[in-house]
Amino acid sequence: MSSLIKLFEFEGKALLAGCGLPIPAGALSTEMPDALDGALVVKAQVLAGGRGKAGGIRFARDRGEALAMAGEIQGSLLGENVVEAVYIEERLDIAREFYLAALVDRDLGMPVLLASAEGGVEIESVAPEKILRQPVDPLIGLQPFMVERLARGLGLSGEPAKEFSAIAGRLYEALVSQDAELVEINPLALTVDGRFVAADAKVALDEDAAFRHPGRRAKPAGTAFELEARDLDVIGVETGEKGGIVAVMNGAGLTMATLDEVLALGGRMSGVIELHGAMMNGPERICDIIEIALRRLEPVTILVNIHFQFRSLVTIAEGVALAMKRFPELTADRLVLRLRGEEEEEARAILAGSGVTIFRDFGPACAGAVERAAANRG
Ligand code: GDP
Ligand code: MN
Repeated sequence: MSSLIKLFEFEGKALLAGCGLPIPAGALSTEMPDALDGALVVKAQVLAGGRGKAGGIRFARDRGEALAMAGEIQGSLLGENVVEAVYIEERLDIAREFYLAALVDRDLGMPVLLASAEGGVEIESVAPEKILRQPVDPLIGLQPFMVERLARGLGLSGEPAKEFSAIAGRLYEALVSQDAELVEINPLALTVDGRFVAADAKVALDEDAAFRHPGRRAKPAGTAFELEARDLDVIGVETGEKGGIVAVMNGAGLTMATLDEVLALGGRMSGVIELHGAMMNGPERICDIIEIALRRLEPVTILVNIHFQFRSLVTIAEGVALAMKRFPELTADRLVLRLRGEEEEEARAILAGSGVTIFRDFGPACAGAVERAAANRG
């Protein structure tokens, strides 16, 4: 499957507005025009839902209060994510909250429109029978009866039904024209004065189609751990499960094999790091890599599984030794190493006396890590 570019809410809204969908007036806190004043909403820009519940959505009486709130939110942690941008927009007087989305359904192999009268909450928590689904065969295209069926199903009639149908049509067009995998408006607010406005936007674009959209960003998205890994020139992937094993490997193949093997052995994986040539930067870099794994993923065990054909293992061993010296919490029983390749003996000698278990073969190393992790969990 191709990879996705997830947009922040403010980027998603700009994309929707470009497709003729109604959004509230708004701006990033750093670019606030004077005219944006009065009752406002202050919104943390992170790529996770449920910001409302997590404290990432705040209501301000005026511009001054909104900017002060933005200052508090900016740079803070919302769940796993550092808030790097804050979006401020006019506050809507919402009468009802709907859910409306267009997405590519992998099972059906075609776009689907989803709608629900129970908007404003995560769609996963809405009962399936309360979600209307309208597949759209791309060869036929979106037909008026399809959106009218959705509007009726939501209990809309008259002018609101007409407006809703127009919005659903534009959302479908946005999905197709932007090569998106998902365009979701939740909530689609029906205001007290009878307008529909996209109060939130979640957009995921197909990265493989980026060439058809010059100027489209390919900004990295990821958790704090994944972004820090990127800053160290390594590839980090977090599973979301804390307190398991973090495995450090060289090469994508060994990384995938290690992940598979650990999981097959019943191990729990908190994350993987592919060194991606980072050992060229010396032992300090290896130490820094171990540090972010410790701090961000809280693993019970770190498995360093390295097979170098042409590169010395000494840098790895020195990096591990450095990390053990620098981080007292990294005790020998939290580490399992597998070192195979150039200068194996020299590498082992560096760690001699450290108490760390060093394997030479792949299978026993993975099994050793799983066993160690189970023991460390107690
Ligand atoms: P999410 O929690 O990350 O999905 O963030 P949303 O942008 O969807 O906001 C969460 C909730 O805050 C919405 O479902 C609304 O109930 C409320 N909300 C957001 N914007 C406004 C607004 O302009 N006016 C009012 N009254 N409520 C808002
Ligand atoms: Mn939302």
